[in-house]
Amino acid sequence: MIRADFGVFYMSFDTLGLSAELIQAVTEQGYSTPTPIQRDAIPVILEGRDIMGGAQTGTGKTAGFTLPMLHLLSKQTPGKGPRPVRALILTPTRELAAQVGESIETYGKHLPLKSAVIFGGVKINPQIAKLRHGVDILVATPGRLLDHANQKTVDLSKVDMLVLDEADRMLDMGFIHDVRKILARLPKKRQNLLFSATFSNDIKKLADNLLNAPVMIEVARRNTASEQVEQVTHPVDRERKQELLSHLINSQNWQQVLVFTRTKHGANRLAQKLEKDGISAAAIHGNKSQAARTRALSSFKDGSVRILVATDIAARGLDIDQLPHVVNFELPNVPEDYVHRIGRTGRAGHEGEAMSLVCIDEHKLLRDIERLLKRELPKVVVPGYEPNPSIKPEPIRKAFSPRGGNRHSPGNAENAARHKRPHSSTSHNKSNSYGKQTKQRGSAQSLRGRAK
Ligand code: AMP
Repeated sequence: MIRADFGVFYMSFDTLGLSAELIQAVTEQGYSTPTPIQRDAIPVILEGRDIMGGAQTGTGKTAGFTLPMLHLLSKQTPGKGPRPVRALILTPTRELAAQVGESIETYGKHLPLKSAVIFGGVKINPQIAKLRHGVDILVATPGRLLDHANQKTVDLSKVDMLVLDEADRMLDMGFIHDVRKILARLPKKRQNLLFSATFSNDIKKLADNLLNAPVMIEVARRNTASEQVEQVTHPVDRERKQELLSHLINSQNWQQVLVFTRTKHGANRLAQKLEKDGISAAAIHGNKSQAARTRALSSFKDGSVRILVATDIAARGLDIDQLPHVVNFELPNVPEDYVHRIGRTGRAGHEGEAMSLVCIDEHKLLRDIERLLKRELPKVVVPGYEPNPSIKPEPIRKAFSPRGGNRHSPGNAENAARHKRPHSSTSHNKSNSYGKQTKQRGSAQSLRGRAK
């Protein structure tokens, strides 16, 4: 038996039915064993079936749908003239779109297929030029894609494979109307793959309309099932958190830390204070331009910036290999965000450490997280940073600020998400079924045999 990074399983990539070019690309990436979602999803997608995949970022799901997609597309011979978009991948955030685009480039590098990534917040003209030259696979965020569709700069009439990635985020961020408008422009006959970390009633409704006799594939949610992330909380006074963070970074000589704050303003402020302490830091959040976000992320990835301070929405979908440390400078208002946050560390089977700086205002938030995790998190007081028992709790300010912005404003999306999430999280708590790896061919009653 092989104890692989992602669980216990036997298979190698060779047995999944993928072409030699794809196996070569995967081998070059250093992957020896498919992850559970890859093992289960790839053969089913190759059969042409629809999928409802319960998996979040970090499970290897991107390769799980990208590899069979590349395989299927490379087997069809495109006709004359510019290539029509045959596969469309919708993602909720620009970062996720960019990462999926990178994966397609990586896995498809030995195949003659063309791909493009389009999202808002950047100039539209280069995207138009790229689309005009012909693209087989298009990765897009819904708003910008709809702009292209309205301007007739993209033709979606030949799409025969659709992926909705992180569908729950898409709904949380208020993109459902855009998604529906896009769906209406696609040919009726096509293969649909829907991936979602959670199964709220809204997701089930979307799946019912979208999917045709789907195969349900669920993989264990990392971080609830996984023991790869060591979690600890440090009780500390509200006003001493930054001091403690600088102390931890310096005394433990951390080189790459992702730090979460609840608000964009808080992210900026913290990054500035760390810089003042001589610790290189950048902030990434929805009010930053796309260029600034990309710059911050690449400086963080290449090690020129040690600390990346992020809000929840901005960090979603970030794939930074082997991120050793995640710090919750402030606990999230929504307990599920905690799980997403710590999912940034201990990725792809590597061990990680997640610590939370918890002040007296956040005790209820901590209890909610522990209830979700079904366990208490260890509390370690750092000597010299003992909480002052005379400090009284203060209410936590909500991050929502009802200022303007257009549909493409990530700040807007961030606010929309903040506003909506408590509802969706309640509903998916009820309907969720994590902690198991199951595959049921067409067995989900509510999903079976639906016409598109
Ligand atoms: P994803 O869930 O698609 O965001 O992937 C999470 C991480 O796992 C990425 O860094 C991938 O490069 C990595 N990964 C994907 N498939 C495998 C595999 N079979 N073996 C090892 N790492 C993988």
